[in-house]
Amino acid sequence: MKVVIIGCGFGGVEVAGELRKRSKELDITMIDRRTRLEYQAAHPEILSGKVTAEEISGDLNEFASRINAKFINEAVVNIDFEAKTVKTKEEREIAYDFLVISIGAEQTFFGIPGAEERSYSVNTLKGAIETKTALDKHDYSKKTSIAVIGAGLTGVEVAGELVDYLRDRASAKIYLVELMPRVLPAFPTENVSNYAEKFISDSSVEILTDTAVQEVNEHEITFTDGTELPYDIIIWTAGIKPNGLLEKLELPKERGWLKVDSYLRVDGMKSVFAVGDTAYSENEGVRSGQNVEEAERQGKLAAKNIIRTIEGKKLERYRAKNTIQNPRAFISLGNDKAVMYFGGMMFKVFAYRVKKFVERRYMKRFR
Ligand SMILES: Cc1cc2nc3c(=O)[nH]c(=O)nc-3n(C[C@H](O)[C@H](O)[C@H](O)COP(=O)(O)OP(=O)(O)OC[C@H]3O[C@@H](n4cnc5c(N)ncnc54)[C@H](O)[C@@H]3O)c2cc1C
Repeated sequence: MKVVIIGCGFGGVEVAGELRKRSKELDITMIDRRTRLEYQAAHPEILSGKVTAEEISGDLNEFASRINAKFINEAVVNIDFEAKTVKTKEEREIAYDFLVISIGAEQTFFGIPGAEERSYSVNTLKGAIETKTALDKHDYSKKTSIAVIGAGLTGVEVAGELVDYLRDRASAKIYLVELMPRVLPAFPTENVSNYAEKFISDSSVEILTDTAVQEVNEHEITFTDGTELPYDIIIWTAGIKPNGLLEKLELPKERGWLKVDSYLRVDGMKSVFAVGDTAYSENEGVRSGQNVEEAERQGKLAAKNIIRTIEGKKLERYRAKNTIQNPRAFISLGNDKAVMYFGGMMFKVFAYRVKKFVERRYMKRFR
């Protein structure tokens, strides 16, 4: 039996590892357009120099050979579900019996003029390194304005790391811009927003909530209320969208994400699974969050259900824990501080240390 996994981030790597744990015989092929897994949660710390690219990424080829799987470093451009083949950019065709789609999400700039061309980003490791290079090259002898657009988890973390990076560069001012009335708007209770807001504004970050970007010009950002913010560097941390490959695939979708049934199979399909950010899973009004925890849990379960399908056994249902309605996360705030949000409550003591412990433990599988 051939299992092909497209996309080797948190979800895909978990599928491959779990499949091998459960079966020595399966023929596993992992495909990714990158050569390394990227631990995205640590990308903001690239900016402050607290971590290196090497420390927070892992060699997929080495991982694959350790679990006796094949790794193909190519981008998938199409899938033929009738012929059960995957086509790569290099025109390679790979046959499968079971397919797992785990291609993650992409950054969106919401079509705002000038935003994509004029912004830096930390979504990919390459982007985070480019942002760090721009920060390093900048001349801080003159007044400097750095704008972080989007005060979700990543935006707040980026602002915190910039505070650490710019500690001895008094000429630089950080702005954190958010469309919604509070930072961390995806968290259902305001306690965490208030705490994060106070922490980073006490560190001299200027927070602009209820502020929508209309256009990014060469030297200033124009907001919808007509005001402008001159900038030197913009770091865009607002919004994700479905991977472009999904547009080509005629599969059931919800707002562009792949709809899966309660066993993580793409709706209506028996041998195609989807996990991680790519998958849209909603059961009894509870929607899975797009986060590392669920990508890993889904990866594990999809692997289990592939094996159960082969063995003719009843499949196991997926139940999301880290959901849109009830999210949980570690949010770092700079200055080696973090807050853990769980069940609507905040835990501050040791939160940063626990976050770093989780990161190091995960990365061990690539060492
Ligand atoms: C900056 C940042 C910070 C984050 N912080 C946190 C956090 O603190 N906590 C948390 O829980 N979550 C966080 N997230 C979200 C988390 O990283 C994602 O939910 C998680 O990575 C989802 O895993 P995945 O396997 O679905 O996708 P990914 O890990 O993104 O992996 C997708 C893989 O698919 C590959 N791929 C895509 N298209 C193709 C193609 N056509 N052909 C071949 N390969 C392809 C990509 O190269 C990539 O390796 C953060 C995300 C970002 C961007």
